[in-house]
Amino acid sequence: MSKVERKKWVYAFEDGDGRNKMLLGGKGANLCEMTRIGLNVPPGFVITTEACLAYLADSQRQLPDGVMDEVRRHMTSLEKETGKRFGGGEDPLLVSVRSGSAMSMPGMMDTILNLGLNETTLAALIRRTGNERFGYDAWRRFVQLFGKVALGVPDALFDEQFEAVKTRVGVKQDVMLGADDLRDIGERFLQVVQRHTGRPFPSDPYEQLEIAIKAVFNSWMGKRAIDYRREFKITPAMANGTAVNVVTMVFGNMGNDSATGVGFTRNPGTGENQLYGEYLTNAQGEDVVAGIRTPKPIGEMGQEMPGIYTQLVELRNRLERHYREVQDFEFTIERGTLYCLQTRNGKMNAAAMVRTSVEMHEEGLLSREEAILRVNPAHLEQMLFPRLDPKHKGHALAAGLPASPGAASGQAVFDADRAEALGKGGAKVILVREETKPEDIHGFFASQGILTSRGGKTSHAAVVARGMGKPCVAGAEGIHVDVAMRVAFVGDQVIKEGDVITIDGSNGQVFRGEVPTVEADFSPSLVKLLGWADAKSRLGVRANADTPDDAARAIRYGAKGIGLCRTERMFNAADRLPIVVDMIVADTPDERRAALDRLLPIQRADFIGIFKAMAPHPVTIRLLDPPIHEFLPTERQLEDDIARLNDLRAVSRGMEVLGEATRGGADPRLLALLHDLGDTRAVDGVLTRKEAILRKARALREVNPMLGHRGVRLGITYPEIYTMQIRAVLEAAADCVKAGIEVHPEIMVPQVCTAQELNLVREYMTVVQNQVEVTYGVKVPCKFGTMIEVVRACMRAENLAEVAEFFSFGTNDLTQATFSFSREDAENKFLPMYNERGILQDNPFEVLDVKGVGRLMALAVDWGRASRPGLKVGICGEHGGHPASIRFCDSIGLDYVSCSAPRVPIARLAAAHAAISGGGAVDKAA
Ligand code: ADP
Ligand code: MG
Ligand code: MG
Repeated sequence: MSKVERKKWVYAFEDGDGRNKMLLGGKGANLCEMTRIGLNVPPGFVITTEACLAYLADSQRQLPDGVMDEVRRHMTSLEKETGKRFGGGEDPLLVSVRSGSAMSMPGMMDTILNLGLNETTLAALIRRTGNERFGYDAWRRFVQLFGKVALGVPDALFDEQFEAVKTRVGVKQDVMLGADDLRDIGERFLQVVQRHTGRPFPSDPYEQLEIAIKAVFNSWMGKRAIDYRREFKITPAMANGTAVNVVTMVFGNMGNDSATGVGFTRNPGTGENQLYGEYLTNAQGEDVVAGIRTPKPIGEMGQEMPGIYTQLVELRNRLERHYREVQDFEFTIERGTLYCLQTRNGKMNAAAMVRTSVEMHEEGLLSREEAILRVNPAHLEQMLFPRLDPKHKGHALAAGLPASPGAASGQAVFDADRAEALGKGGAKVILVREETKPEDIHGFFASQGILTSRGGKTSHAAVVARGMGKPCVAGAEGIHVDVAMRVAFVGDQVIKEGDVITIDGSNGQVFRGEVPTVEADFSPSLVKLLGWADAKSRLGVRANADTPDDAARAIRYGAKGIGLCRTERMFNAADRLPIVVDMIVADTPDERRAALDRLLPIQRADFIGIFKAMAPHPVTIRLLDPPIHEFLPTERQLEDDIARLNDLRAVSRGMEVLGEATRGGADPRLLALLHDLGDTRAVDGVLTRKEAILRKARALREVNPMLGHRGVRLGITYPEIYTMQIRAVLEAAADCVKAGIEVHPEIMVPQVCTAQELNLVREYMTVVQNQVEVTYGVKVPCKFGTMIEVVRACMRAENLAEVAEFFSFGTNDLTQATFSFSREDAENKFLPMYNERGILQDNPFEVLDVKGVGRLMALAVDWGRASRPGLKVGICGEHGGHPASIRFCDSIGLDYVSCSAPRVPIARLAAAHAAISGGGAVDKAA
């Protein structure tokens, strides 16, 4: 490097820029910042990350020219400032050598304390302090740390010697060792180093310093650090190289007026505005971490050292006022003087984050926008779902994918019917299946949670559970489910039906027995923060809800309407399914209408319940969507049933034959019994129906059901189905209107790709609406709109909007259609590989694909509004609850997002983030 543009490699704490974490590392930048604002930081300096990168790029592994010169100059300044001498004199200067990159990487490199000690300086230190024990203790700590960290000597070799001395002396605890014992340990440690490295322990302090600096730099490319960066996806843009901090040693172990500890400016568990932390009197920092002695809560310092405690509270206040963020700091007290050794933003759980945000705004530390932006919406998930009690000690029996957050316990049940039967009886059950199918849906309703041994995060079980806000662990491959035997095997353990298990859908763990859970926590702070968020956001937030209970829950979570009510969920309930099957099996429209007539009052009652729960907010109801054969048992199952019924019939016939053969002479009672048993009429009836269903199932079989006869296509083939549903909605609405309840039903047609389809359904609606209004004698307000979930619908948005009064993007199907990926196959087969190899950044079924699917959406919004200005547009796919996707929805001008109820608060906060950080904030409350 030429002289003119020589880089500055080293910054004194007085000179470094506290905001430049890339150059100085987080620890170094904050040490500079704290020095600048006048906090008592021991003097020191930072060697930059640039020096680290230059060193690592050098094939000889030499420090770049000038680094050691600058280090020497700064050491000289430290000597002046402290009045101590490095490597000699009456009062030796000792330093710590600490790593620190832009991102905190715990445990990346251990800190070396007490560097600068050798035979001479040790003697001086002992003379100076008059404390032999202290001196030898500092020495043995230094030899061990330096040996381990800088010279690569395994810790075990030191521990062996340490234990040997303790055994010889006959003590259990380090504190009981005397000065002589510690000196002995120091000597043994020197021999360990000599033996292991083949060289004597370096005694020249500058040599020690240079070796230590190189060791810190090398640690950046050590396995631990590389693994950590990979695991937490830390890219070079986030942190590149580590800085080295050289800090004058201060001692918390100089007597009972000395101490060391860690503090949080507020309680990180609860967020309470109170100094929080722990300390140890007469100890060095590492003792707190090592857990050798039990530290005391910081409050006790108020009595033990009141003067220092006042200083500590003052430090806390200055840190918070300056950083305007909860700080996590390290301090040491040397003979009554308080030093701050480190500070960084405190990590907190979601509840504490929310509470501190609200309180820091109310204390005037943060603006309302800052308070909102400070909380990461996704982090709220922690508070909104029941979770396992953090204090539990259970060991997981098996693990799968965290498919739907929350925790639940219940009896294991292996089929949906049993789940429903037990659930209705009030039992808590967990539905355990290999995988789930739409026909298991009633089992979902009755269960606390779902566990499957197959399938990914977008398997049927996962998607439906998330939609319902129930916990789900999917793809727990270690579990083998035997439905017929009603057991599951996990290794050598057996789970029988009725055995209690606990699942944690937030991390995928499965436990035997009941692990206590803590309930979702809707704290007053959260309510307040979300209220502020609502006032700032432009996007509305609705919930996906299918039942009156869901609707009531959605309201509690702050939804302003239902964005998607799936009517097929109602069809699946046990009291309706047989009627639905009748409807499907019907051979003529009249037969079908007869079945539908029985369904009508049931659906109407559902809608009344939902409207009441949601009033006065809008409710978007999607007409029947899935292919109807999904309501029938599988062909396989029907064939099995029929075979078994035929066997039964043959046995029955046998009884009759037997009866005839023994006629005359036999006991008349036996004869009567045989006659009854021989009556095959009951079996025949069931058999006939099963055969009819099987015929229908075969007739309805499709090669590709998801692209087949479903959605509006069904509605047009069987107009009586949609007509019945529309009638149920409108009669329910009329009922509410008469009762003085404000209703805003919105009828939504699924799978539309042309305006002709919409026109047809719109006609059904006009006819029914007129009839209902005449019959009930009231006006029934109702909007008519379409789901946008196929590519052609996006392309024809302008025409669709001539008929539709609103659009709602069904981004689950739209994503499948845009990629031509079938979701289940993609998830289970190739998506993980695509993500790993960077072919796709994210799973497009979780994170909206802004570049492709998003582009289509933007076009559809623009074209739709070109023909109908003010066209209302929302999204009701799973993406509606995902913060980054919500930001995108805001940017293309959607009116609302809709997601499962427990995600509503996440969406509300994300909507506010989008409004605040994406352009000027609007304060609707103002
Ligand atoms: P980590 O990043 O692992 O916390 P640190 O560099 O902060 O590592 O140091 C480890 C321990 O040593 C901490 O308790 C810290 O307070 C203490 N420590 C570091 N430097 C000094 C020093 N100059 N004087 C006294 N204690 C120190
Ligand atoms: Mg630290
Ligand atoms: Mg769809």
